[in-house]
Amino acid sequence: CGIVGYVGAQSALDVVIAGLKRLEYRGYDSAGVAVLADGKLVSAKKAGKLVNLEKELVAQPLPAGSTGLGHTRWATHGGPTDVNAHPHLDNSGRVAVVHNGIIENFAALRAELAERGHRLESETDTEVVAHLLAERFEAVRGAGGAAGLAEAMRQVCRRLEGAFTLVAVHADEPDVVVGARRNSPLVVGVGEGENFLASDVAAFIAHTRSAIELGQDQVVELRRDGVSVTGFDGAPAAVRAYHVDWDASA
Ligand code: GLU
Repeated sequence: CGIVGYVGAQSALDVVIAGLKRLEYRGYDSAGVAVLADGKLVSAKKAGKLVNLEKELVAQPLPAGSTGLGHTRWATHGGPTDVNAHPHLDNSGRVAVVHNGIIENFAALRAELAERGHRLESETDTEVVAHLLAERFEAVRGAGGAAGLAEAMRQVCRRLEGAFTLVAVHADEPDVVVGARRNSPLVVGVGEGENFLASDVAAFIAHTRSAIELGQDQVVELRRDGVSVTGFDGAPAAVRAYHVDWDASA
């Protein structure tokens, strides 16, 4: 339902939680976050309101990191439980993904992953994406590819049917956040030495008014000092930032 991603010099957790609060008006049934801290992926997720997640983060604090993502979920596949909340991780615990929308062909992808030995833990359509990303990341790395997670995301998106906004991080690319979209919105917030991803500009206008609307079937790779966009086919896409011109107090 609501998505926020961040890479920069601030605490990713603080930026992401504040961003999710700005998206609360959309309604949701669960919330979760993941942060890359010292080469490790750490995450927390809870059914119910954001305050439940915040209480969990006080009881079990996460180590600080400056790359992260978060999600508020409106369940379509699988009830609103802690396990079904996003982010979803692969079995190695090194990839985290959040998703808005519906992956129509998830059942076939689940069966295929189970056959290859993956253990899926939730009832969501989303979890297959974490497992596929982990596989493709290893394949791209094995082939000596540069933009590991972005290329893995392009390969995975070509296999997905339906409507989706996806944002992902990988512990082996600690300064990168990757996003993708088809039939569901995703906006980049361009900062100085920091960049943002969100399903709605409301999540980041406290930090920057410079935004890039991601086009249909595009993947974005976000680093502290750069934003690069391609199609699902890998062809570079032209990007143009626009000024977000509305009242921050709205
Ligand atoms: N289909 C996904 C799920 O049920 C994402 C729902 C959403 O857009 O929040 O987990």
